Amino acid sequence: MAEHTTVTVLGLGAMGQALAAAFLKGGHPTTVWNRSPGKDAELVAAGATGAASIATAVAAGEVVVAVLLDHASVHSVLDPVVEHLRGRQLINLTSTAPEDSRELARWAAEHGIDYLDGGIMAVPPMIGQPGSSLLYSGSREVFDRSREMLELLGTAEYFGDDPGLAALYDFALLANMYTMFTGFLHAAAMVASAGQSVEAFAHRAAGWVSAMTQSLPEFGRIIESGDYAAEVQHLAFQKAALDAIVRASADAGVALDVVAPIKSLIDRQVAAGHGALAFERTFEELR
Ligand code: NDP
Repeated sequence: MAEHTTVTVLGLGAMGQALAAAFLKGGHPTTVWNRSPGKDAELVAAGATGAASIATAVAAGEVVVAVLLDHASVHSVLDPVVEHLRGRQLINLTSTAPEDSRELARWAAEHGIDYLDGGIMAVPPMIGQPGSSLLYSGSREVFDRSREMLELLGTAEYFGDDPGLAALYDFALLANMYTMFTGFLHAAAMVASAGQSVEAFAHRAAGWVSAMTQSLPEFGRIIESGDYAAEVQHLAFQKAALDAIVRASADAGVALDVVAPIKSLIDRQVAAGHGALAFERTFEELR
């Protein structure tokens, strides 16, 4: 059944083009639309139908996929055609904050539209390739009905009927990624201050970070247990390490924007009397 589902892709930026190409390759009759004309040429040459208007586009697809810039652009595109969407399945793959996803789900429910929200954990060239992963939440029925089609884009994982959950996981993973990469930039500035090769250091850092991330499941286990008893490297010990890292960074002339907040977190934990507990106790300071 799924290979016969008609799909409409709204938004032909880099990501929308990649998604539409994957649907086409998977055999789905695909209609495409973009606010600015001229972005559908390659897709039309590959067999897609270029819609002349947003209303025609929405009417053509049993499943309508929105992949636009942001939350505001989704409303500005969909509000005028809300009546055409009634009874259809809307899958919003635009990156939106969880509360915005929930707002869109309420808006969809008010207008009789089945709504599934999604977060794309891939860049456009990865779509349909190994390593591409998409997170979904909202209507289980839409997810189940479209699953085969969605798996053309990458692995498809459903997080639950709260439409904000996929976005929450998306941004949690991105927060983890950005702080990790920013940590690398800080470290690179430290070694560069002594005239060392950043490129050579990058290889060393990749191995180190990979080894360190092996302990993340243990972090999760400790946090879930709520037992922060430390056998080694308690927070008072970590405070001494952070003091030294901040001192070494300042001596190297590196800005403290990245490491100072970590020192502040640990200082607060120690000042609150948690110096004998494990580093994972910092989780309680953050939430
Ligand atoms: P692009 O900047 O390439 O494209 C943006 C798209 O949004 C264009 O089709 C643009 O139309 C449209 N758009 C912007 N504002 C409006 C508006 N007010 N009304 C109608 N259409 C509008 O972005 P991407 O395609 O790369 O990204 C799309 C979504 O996918 C984003 O939410 C992004 O966060 C997400 N995503 C992207 C990834 C990536 O690596 N690119 C990775 C993961 C998620 P026009 O051509 O007319 O300007």
